[in-house]
Amino acid sequence: MKTCELFKKKTVLSYEVFPPKRTGAVDTVYTTVAALKEFSPDFISVTYGAGGGRATCEATLSIASFIKNIYGIECVAHLPCIGLTREEAENQLERFRGAGIENILALRGDMPEGGAPAGDFAHANDLISFIREKYDFNVIAACYPEGHNESESVLDDIQNLKRKTDAGATQLISQLFFDNDYFYRFLERCRLAGINVPVEAGIMPVANKKQIERMVTLCGVTLPKKFSSMMSRYENNPDAMRDAGIAYAVDQIVDLISQGVDGIHLYTMNNPYIARRIYEAVHRLL
Ligand code: FAD
Repeated sequence: MKTCELFKKKTVLSYEVFPPKRTGAVDTVYTTVAALKEFSPDFISVTYGAGGGRATCEATLSIASFIKNIYGIECVAHLPCIGLTREEAENQLERFRGAGIENILALRGDMPEGGAPAGDFAHANDLISFIREKYDFNVIAACYPEGHNESESVLDDIQNLKRKTDAGATQLISQLFFDNDYFYRFLERCRLAGINVPVEAGIMPVANKKQIERMVTLCGVTLPKKFSSMMSRYENNPDAMRDAGIAYAVDQIVDLISQGVDGIHLYTMNNPYIARRIYEAVHRLL
């Protein structure tokens, strides 16, 4: 099924999992997926290490195939194009298609230190056009409520986002954010720019301070004062920090659903316990 169809019927709830760093540990993600099945996923997406070699591709493919073919859950495979040739992209896409995957999250991937490696795609919109010309996949793109960290401004980034929907992306998934007002302002600007596809809000429940510091460095998201106070108060108490992180995420989700959000995409960090707590708190609201 093409996941863009889901938004016509309901507020979508999806989950993201990632292949483990350690080669050969893919089985651990199967356990996560088995647990997530109980939390009514509309789909599960699987990340893919940009510029990754064969091992990365194999892990993403085998997890995606497991989700779709063993559990019968709709699946979205991520595909970053940085450093890929057309032939390599074709090869990956053929393999996803062969595994029955119908949905691709088409990405550029993070720029490595030292600049872009040689490849045939400069930006995600180039990959999206390529896929739409040659295949029948449903194509999804990433978006950034606070602007992508390389872009000059949010407005500039939205112009570039429009290239992705013009190229054929039918739905968007946002980067995580901790202040819903950024997301609402972003949605208004998207609509003004003529971007009218469904946008899922990316929510990451915080489990520890280190994880957040990494995210802030990587993505440049804003931490509201109440969020920073929460981290300072509980940083030395992991259980309390986890509970506070879940409560914060639930609060964000309740507000988003009340405002009519198209969907919630939960960055599970492969932690089914946290996903369960959130699902139990919000599933009757969807
Ligand atoms: P692009 O859309 O190409 O944008 C990158 C930058 O270039 C932006 O600043 C944009 O404004 C600008 N730009 C875009 N198009 C043009 C153009 N035509 N001309 C000039 N400038 C342009 N990374 C992974 O490696 N693997 C994953 O599995 C993964 N999953 C992700 C899932 C989600 C939901 C999100 C939000 C991000 C994910 N990422 C993943 C991270 C992503 O690869 C990085 O954020 C990356 O830096 C940008 O990818 P993009 O597809 O948004 O790139």
